[in-house]
Amino acid sequence: SQRRHASKHRFFVVELSQALFDFVIRLLPSQEEMAVKEDVRKLLERLIRTIEPDSRLLSFGSTANGFSLRNSDMDLCCLIDSAERLSASDMVTMLGDLLERETKFHVKPLPHARIPIVKLSLDPSPGLPHGIACDIGFENRLALENTRLLMCYAMIDPTRVRTLVLFLKVWSKRRNINSPYQGTLSSYGYVLLVIYFLIHVKNPPVLPNLQQMPPLRPISQEDTHIGGHNTWFFDDIELLRQRWQSSNTDSVADLLIDFFRYYSRDFTYNTGVASIRGGLLKKDSKGWQNELAAGRYNDSRERNRFCIEDPFEIDFNVARCVTKEGLYQIRGEFMRASRILAMRPRASVALAQLCEE
Ligand code: ATP
Ligand code: MG
Repeated sequence: SQRRHASKHRFFVVELSQALFDFVIRLLPSQEEMAVKEDVRKLLERLIRTIEPDSRLLSFGSTANGFSLRNSDMDLCCLIDSAERLSASDMVTMLGDLLERETKFHVKPLPHARIPIVKLSLDPSPGLPHGIACDIGFENRLALENTRLLMCYAMIDPTRVRTLVLFLKVWSKRRNINSPYQGTLSSYGYVLLVIYFLIHVKNPPVLPNLQQMPPLRPISQEDTHIGGHNTWFFDDIELLRQRWQSSNTDSVADLLIDFFRYYSRDFTYNTGVASIRGGLLKKDSKGWQNELAAGRYNDSRERNRFCIEDPFEIDFNVARCVTKEGLYQIRGEFMRASRILAMRPRASVALAQLCEE
């Protein structure tokens, strides 16, 4: 009976892995969608250069890191190479006016936000059935670097990492726990949870820690620091592939089952900080205790219920928007997913139940 049990489990895992690949492949953006987005980027870059000739407009976030789903937003960042440049909020105001005059986009400049951005959108049309939504920020060099870091992790083990991340993005959106404005977690937060799990929880690890690998040659401070933050990581993925191979042979389904189990049962939400750079850290040692934050801000904004350290901006809790209710909801969803998978239904049924809206 134990043998039967084991073979039933193996069958479930093989079938579920295949179903996960098939599921995410259908949700990838088409070549056409990517081409339209690239055209939009070029058009916007041309317009921005009429204000700042020395500027470049670069993609970051999912359009640039390999974790993009169909119809996902575009995140764009404008870098200005000249010495005397306008402030980000002035750029936002000017660019907002320009785009309003010259394009068909709906334009919403937010010059006074913590990170000033221009929000753009296009209504759906026959050629673009879902329209386009796009944010343009300025000088956000850390975001470009963390995008590159996530892309490197995706390249090390494209099949397992991308399938897991893409599935969790869809799952979290369908289950309504992917919205920082409503007290839950951003896609970026979920991606960090997956990578943390693959580097620091799985044993043997599925991914190496790119921020802790020895550099190939001596590196200088200026080369590796942006605004006082150390952004160095090992980024020669071709070379890494020759020198490092994971001895972890788990399938995608094995990893997904373990992921949900870990975050429903084992992660220490009250005291722990998930850090892809440093492993499991303590809230105490980062000064991120809940009581402290609540006392200081003297309101219900509890910034440190759930703690995920940003890979470069290490004073920054990526999950600071998660509220008490939000965390309760997120953990409830991890438990629900674990329960569904523990019953080992047919793979198609499992995926349908997991992502039920
Ligand atoms: P989606 O397809 O859902 O838009 P995404 O991969 O683009 O997912 P986002 O959450 O939109 O992920 O994040 C895009 C980028 O914005 C990230 O790569 C990161 O640089 C930055 N970012 C987003 N959320 C945060 C956050 N809470 N803290 C810091 N940076 C963030
Ligand atoms: Mg995005």
